Amino acid sequence: MPYKTSDIVDAVVIGTGAGGAPLLARLAKAGLKVVALEAGKHWNPAQDFPTDEKAQDKLFWNDERLSAGNDPLPFGNNNSGTGVGGSTLHYTAYTPRVHPDDLRIRSEFGVGADWPIGFDQIESYYDEIEHFIGVSGPSFYPWGPARKRSYPLGPLPINGAGQLMERGCAEVGIRTSPAANAALSAGYYQEGVGHRPGCANRGFCQAGCNIGAKASMDVTYIPLAMHYGAEIRPESFVTQLVKNDAGKISEVVYIRNGQEERQRCRYVFLCAGTIETARLLLMNGLANSSGQVGRNVMAHTGLQIWGEFDEDVRPYKGIPGALISEDMHRPKDADFVGGYLLQSIGVMPVTYLSQMARGRGLWGQELKRAASAYNHMAGINILGDCLPYEHNYMELSDEKDSRGLPKPRVYFSNGESEERMTAHADKVMRDIWAAAGAKNMWAFPRNAHVIGTCRMGNDPDTAVVNADGQSFDIPNLYISDNSTFPSALSVNPALTIMALSLRTADRFLAQG
Ligand SMILES: Cc1cc2nc3c(=O)[nH]c(=O)nc-3n(C[C@H](O)[C@H](O)[C@H](O)COP(=O)(O)OP(=O)(O)OC[C@H]3O[C@@H](n4cnc5c(N)ncnc54)[C@H](O)[C@@H]3O)c2cc1C
Ligand code: SF4
Repeated sequence: MPYKTSDIVDAVVIGTGAGGAPLLARLAKAGLKVVALEAGKHWNPAQDFPTDEKAQDKLFWNDERLSAGNDPLPFGNNNSGTGVGGSTLHYTAYTPRVHPDDLRIRSEFGVGADWPIGFDQIESYYDEIEHFIGVSGPSFYPWGPARKRSYPLGPLPINGAGQLMERGCAEVGIRTSPAANAALSAGYYQEGVGHRPGCANRGFCQAGCNIGAKASMDVTYIPLAMHYGAEIRPESFVTQLVKNDAGKISEVVYIRNGQEERQRCRYVFLCAGTIETARLLLMNGLANSSGQVGRNVMAHTGLQIWGEFDEDVRPYKGIPGALISEDMHRPKDADFVGGYLLQSIGVMPVTYLSQMARGRGLWGQELKRAASAYNHMAGINILGDCLPYEHNYMELSDEKDSRGLPKPRVYFSNGESEERMTAHADKVMRDIWAAAGAKNMWAFPRNAHVIGTCRMGNDPDTAVVNADGQSFDIPNLYISDNSTFPSALSVNPALTIMALSLRTADRFLAQG
């Protein structure tokens, strides 16, 4: 262990996912003494990630969270991960950039919230990240501002569902493109990390990539951070942030091997993900003079439409995040706020069957019969914006977890805009599948990715952190994860979380 708990380190980073790992590397590279406290294990993908979907449940945050509201959010594998690398261990690695207007929802539609920063303040970070982690993508992408540099690697092969979606979209006049995906289409060299092999098309991205072709944080920014001297302390569950008389956090308390330990520090970067970041602040009564901690919970609209095809689709094969269309970013006939993108789905068998049980209510013999069509099923899903509402929030419940800490309770109900968007997308996707020759279509309504709870903004009365991720109340506390998003965006979040993470580190370092 390079640092002792009695040392006063420059920074403690809590959580090593998309929000924590990039800034950890940046701070370490600047020569700071940094320690990352991570609740989960530090896995060795080659040994610990078998091609066995059930065995990989260990990558999910499985502590119980209570779900309330009209559309209660399922947690576990639907939402967040644990381990060095956080949820990127099991993400699908779709990495689209935001559109500039995604950040100005309130200005455009008069509802929701604008971001305190514009596209020009994150664009250079997108470029840097795409070239560091090795994003594969097309040479021409039909949507969004023109790129300054092309993707570092060519596109990945399109899986079965993607090929059928391409066919159906062409029939109905919707443009498609191979997606930007943070999995390597060829071997790639990374500074401070070394060579990573190209994707083997094993299709198990959501169960952890055992060859390191997918850019999860454990094979990209974490080794870079370690190269520059950062210490990673896995299996360290943070419970308290202790404030000194000057109103700053002076030590972080965590449980490791059943023992309580304390790390003294000058700065804290809280990167524990939407739910755990807000839970830690609420449990400790911190950074909440605005009353906004836990408010504004959002979750992307994520309807899936499945169809059965005569062709052999084999949904478990090939890169699951393959084909995209952003033609619905601002559709002309929209009766909702914002927009959505369309993406082809690759799915492992246990996930697919559990979705059929939840979405279609099938069980026993009926489920068995439907399961026999698995190899001929193809899915498309949307990922759409979601507005912040008063009625969607997170609180601490009276129920205690196995550590004696209050379980979080999350309220979520889709509003009119999300319902209209879902109805619009239902028709669009059924038209695509019908044109591609699908039979026996069925819909799986869902919301994906929990966002919000510690909104960033310019006004300390309505936001928890400023545009740099710094708490308005506690000057040596920063937050960097998907809790700070003021609006949900109409694209997958991880690339933007990483970009904000690097920006937060740079803004912090610039203050000297
Ligand atoms: C199945 C699935 C597929 C996805 N696919 C995509 C995709 O294709 N593209 C995309 O952009 N996004 C995708 N996402 C979403 C994306 O993975 C997340 O939005 C993103 O990783 C969240 O980053 P984060 O830093 O906020 O949190 P996380 O990455 O979840 O990191 C938080 C970390 O904090 C740790 N932690 C929490 N509490 C404590 C504590 N008290 N003490 C110490 N450590 C703690 C956790 O163990 C975890 O490692 C997907 C998500 C899922 C579930
Ligand atoms: S499909 Fe490629 S990136 Fe995904 S788990 Fe397999 S080898 Fe890794």
